[in-house]
Amino acid sequence: MNSTHRARKRFGQNFLHDPNVIARILRAIKPLAGEALVEIGPGLGALTRPLLEASANLEVVEIDRDVIPHLQAQCAGVGELHVHNVDVLKFDFTALSQRLGAPLRLVGNLPYNISTPLLFHALDHASYVRDMHLMVQKEVAERMAAAPNSDAYGRLSVMVQWRCQVELLFLVGPGAFKPAPKVDSAVVRLTPHTTAPVQVDDGKLFADLVNRAFSQRRKTLRNALKIYLTAEQISAVGIDPGLRPEVLSLAQFAALANAAARAGE
Ligand code: SAM
Repeated sequence: MNSTHRARKRFGQNFLHDPNVIARILRAIKPLAGEALVEIGPGLGALTRPLLEASANLEVVEIDRDVIPHLQAQCAGVGELHVHNVDVLKFDFTALSQRLGAPLRLVGNLPYNISTPLLFHALDHASYVRDMHLMVQKEVAERMAAAPNSDAYGRLSVMVQWRCQVELLFLVGPGAFKPAPKVDSAVVRLTPHTTAPVQVDDGKLFADLVNRAFSQRRKTLRNALKIYLTAEQISAVGIDPGLRPEVLSLAQFAALANAAARAGE
């Protein structure tokens, strides 16, 4: 870590310093020249420099203006670094992809305090994203990859799996970062589907229904979803209204949301 920069907690700054972990992330990404690579939260440049060496051209989105001089010094003479000094939650990935004329490859050792909102933000732009390689808290990675009927399965699993194929690549211990976080981390690869795995007629309604189902996960579907569907309407799509939300597959959530869309017409 650069000795002149003090890591800021409020920006979730835990800087990677383990060369083996950095090399492993790069091997997973396999960045190539000419690709539209975007790093979220480059910090002091642990991943930025090797990414730039491989790609020669890199866009980075970093909120903390104080790290930018360190970052630029770290990458000096390597390639073209384009710095966007903004909050990534407000960053328009679609506009960047259109400007670059290619689907984006997002990379980031994410600040843990914003990883879930950032995932939802990136999913909104999923049709302009080729893939994402993200370091997140281990539990968040497990939630993204979880199958029905497990404790980790919930809103994040359904919403991410609707948009992307999820691969949990490897775990990373706290010692790989400075300062060391209190939690374990994991690197995941999300690859947006080119063909949707399920037909969803109204994306907003689907998102709201999934959210409501899991905000009341101890309730049965009959009770949790009663603002959308009666027990009879739930049965009519072949689902037992006495079930709990955590046992439903993505396809079953889609069927319920499509029935709710028809019921509301
Ligand atoms: N990539 C670096 C590394 O691996 O060492 C830094 C990772 S650190 C966990 C997260 C980085 O995201 C920090 O540089 C932090 O300033 C930046 N960051 C935090 N919140 C952000 C936001 N809302 N928008 C953009 N960058 C943010």
